Amino acid sequence: MYLQSKQPKVGTTIFTVMSQLALESGALNLSQGFPNYNCSEKLVSLVNQYMQQGMNQYAPMAGIFALREVLAAKTEDLYGIKYHPDTEITIVSGCTEALYATLTALILPGDEVIVFEPAYDSYLPAIELNGGVAVPITLSPDNDFSIDWTLVKSKLTPKTKALMLTSPHNPTGKCLTSSDLDSLAAILKDSNVFVVSDEVYEHIIFDGRRHLSPAMHPDLYERTFVCGSFGKTFHTTGWKLGYCLAPKELTAEFRKAHQWITFSSPTPMQYALADFLKDKNNYLEVTDFYQKKRDKFINALKGSRFEWIPAEGSFFQLLSYKNICDDNDYDLAIRWTKELGVASIPISVFYSDRLDNKILRFCFAKDDETLEKAAEKLQKI
Ligand code: PMP
Ligand code: GLN
Repeated sequence: MYLQSKQPKVGTTIFTVMSQLALESGALNLSQGFPNYNCSEKLVSLVNQYMQQGMNQYAPMAGIFALREVLAAKTEDLYGIKYHPDTEITIVSGCTEALYATLTALILPGDEVIVFEPAYDSYLPAIELNGGVAVPITLSPDNDFSIDWTLVKSKLTPKTKALMLTSPHNPTGKCLTSSDLDSLAAILKDSNVFVVSDEVYEHIIFDGRRHLSPAMHPDLYERTFVCGSFGKTFHTTGWKLGYCLAPKELTAEFRKAHQWITFSSPTPMQYALADFLKDKNNYLEVTDFYQKKRDKFINALKGSRFEWIPAEGSFFQLLSYKNICDDNDYDLAIRWTKELGVASIPISVFYSDRLDNKILRFCFAKDDETLEKAAEKLQKI
């Protein structure tokens, strides 16, 4: 038999590769983005309670209504934007599915989608599997990974169907500003270009910054799909539960895709989250929690030979090793996992041309002891 690959250039994701290597080498795993601590006991007992109560069959295709309702209230309360729980909110199996279903709903063969690189690893394959063409725009550390909107404007063509945004950003930690949103709104005015906004780190944002979604901009709301996740906020990445918020007509098309991808997502977890989200502290406290972790990690690195700009958001800190050696970042990440005992992610993997900026990404969603031990090892370099 011969199976012609639809994704001939795709291998195993860097997250799997590095986590596996960390395990084999007994290294501290600051590579793949997941916490090494448990979620709230309350949340676990709520899931248990709903399982005992028999909530173990298919959830409605759009998600448990109570969860959609509480998300609508939270989104209006925090960001001042209204989504109707009936027709504009869909619960799906993680932000990965939200992004995939959005792109499936949007892309016709040959459509172009603008992507800022470094880009989260699922974006390009999701565009290409749907018959689209990714149009990468390179963000550089020399420019603090900020977006040149004049360049973005020059990339728009009659084939541009969508533009993908990530804020807070993985891997750079960079957050969008209101001036970014104004610039985006100005260049998309009168166009038929949609915005796919990945906001999985919305609550993990530091130094008093406020999370800004393109949906908050009056000229962008109508064209925006907000893709979110409960995984990062509640330390439940393994539950793979996320959501999509979008105006009614957009949601209708989104749901047509979602119903053929997973149809619906795990029921007891949705009931549990619906209860848990009613207490605002359960999601607001994560901001401070992660700011302390970021600060612990970077304070412990003071005096080392690395260079960094503190992450504005997300649970990743980039460290530049350009003053230390000239190795390529991929080989170095592997070597340091094996020899130093600290696993990280080389950020070249997030660029389609594998641009090597001599930067590694470290995940600080780890207990304090792991962060201290990792920093101690990195100090020795
Ligand atoms: N987008 C970004 C930027 C991410 O970092 C991640 C996961 N770490 C996802 C999407 C996927 O989220 P989920 O696990 O909810 O599918
Ligand atoms: N989003 C996580 C990260 O950036 C990994 C998720 C995955 O393993 N696919 O590390």
